[in-house]
Amino acid sequence: MKPLPALSLHRPRTLNEALKLLKELEDAKPIAGGTDLIPTMREGALRVRNLVDLTMIEALRGIWEKAGEIYIGAATTLSQLERSKIIAERAPALWAAATSIGSVQIRNLGTIGGNLCNASPAADTAPPLLTLNAVADIASEDEWRTIPLHSLFAGPKLTSLKPWELLTHVRFPTPPENVGMSFQKLGRRKGHTISLVNASAYLELEGLTCRDVRIALGSVAPTPIRVWEVEEMMRGRRMTEELIEEAASNCYKLVSPIDDLRASASYRREMSRVLVRRALREAWTRARGEVG
Ligand SMILES: Cc1cc2nc3c(=O)[nH]c(=O)nc-3n(C[C@H](O)[C@H](O)[C@H](O)COP(=O)(O)OP(=O)(O)OC[C@H]3O[C@@H](n4cnc5c(N)ncnc54)[C@H](O)[C@@H]3O)c2cc1C
Repeated sequence: MKPLPALSLHRPRTLNEALKLLKELEDAKPIAGGTDLIPTMREGALRVRNLVDLTMIEALRGIWEKAGEIYIGAATTLSQLERSKIIAERAPALWAAATSIGSVQIRNLGTIGGNLCNASPAADTAPPLLTLNAVADIASEDEWRTIPLHSLFAGPKLTSLKPWELLTHVRFPTPPENVGMSFQKLGRRKGHTISLVNASAYLELEGLTCRDVRIALGSVAPTPIRVWEVEEMMRGRRMTEELIEEAASNCYKLVSPIDDLRASASYRREMSRVLVRRALREAWTRARGEVG
C-alpha cells in the first residue's frame, strides 16, 4: 500500500471550530470516513496539507423528522442509514441505495456527506435523494445557505462548494404514505461494486393516473441527473406498461454516458432504459400498495 504524504490531521469537536479551520488553514480539506479521500490521496491524485476530520462533530450526525422534513446529518454513516426506521419506512429507495454500497466495513466508515461531496456520477445515494427533492444545507464561517441537491454537483468529482464550505445536512419533505419508490443498481457483480448505472423512481398516483413522478439516473452523465422532460411527459397520464416503456425509451435518448474501464457508453445507455423500466414498475407496484 502506498504511504500517505506528510500532513496534519485536525479533529474539531464543533462545527464552528471546523469551519474556522477550513477558512484559516492553507490547503485544507474535510475528511469524513475517508473511504473515497484516502485512496485518492494514496494514488497521488490529490495533495492536501491539512485534513479536517468531521467525525467528532455531533451536530453533523443523526437522522430526524421535523416540521414535515427528514434531516440527515452529513457525517451520518451509511450503516446508520441502513439501521434507520425513518429511512427504511419513509425513504425506502434511499435505504436500498445506502444498503447496496460497498461492504459492511465501508458502510461503517463511509458517510452520506462523503458520498455526495465526492461527486462521483455513480454515487448511489444521489439518485434517490434527487427524486426526494432533497436540498443541501451548506455552512461556512461567513454564510449559511441552502441549494437544491442537483446544484451541488458541478461535474465528475466536482461540487459547487467552496473549499472552506461544509455540507451540514441533506433534507427532504417527508413523502406521503401512498408514494411508491424504487432504487435500481447495475454493477459488474451482485454486491460490493460501484454502479455501472443506477436509477431511482418516485411515483404518486391519483386513482389510475400518474399524479407526480420523479426519475433520476447515475453514471450516465457527468453528474447524477433528474430527467425532468420525461417526468413532465408522464404527469397527468394514465399509468400503463406502455407509458413506462415510453418513459424508459425517452431516458435512453436523453442520457450521455461515457466509455470507461468498467463499461462502454452504448451498454450504459441501453441499461439506463432497462433500469428506468424496472424502477418505474417497482414504484408503480408499491404506489398501489402491493409489495414490490
Ligand atoms: C471498496 C469500496 C467500495 C465502494 N463502494 C461504493 C458503492 O457501492 N457505491 C458508492 O456510491 N460508493 C462506493 N464507494 C465510495 C465511498 O465509500 C462512498 O462514496 C462513501 O459514502 C464516501 O464517504 P466518506 O465519508 O468515506 O467520504 P470521504 O472519503 O471522507 O470524503 C469524500 C469527499 O467528500 C468530501 N467531504 C466529506 N464530507 C464532507 C462534508 N460534510 N462537506 C464537504 N465535503 C465533504 C471530502 O473532502 C472528499 O472530497 C466505495 C469505496 C470503496 C473503497
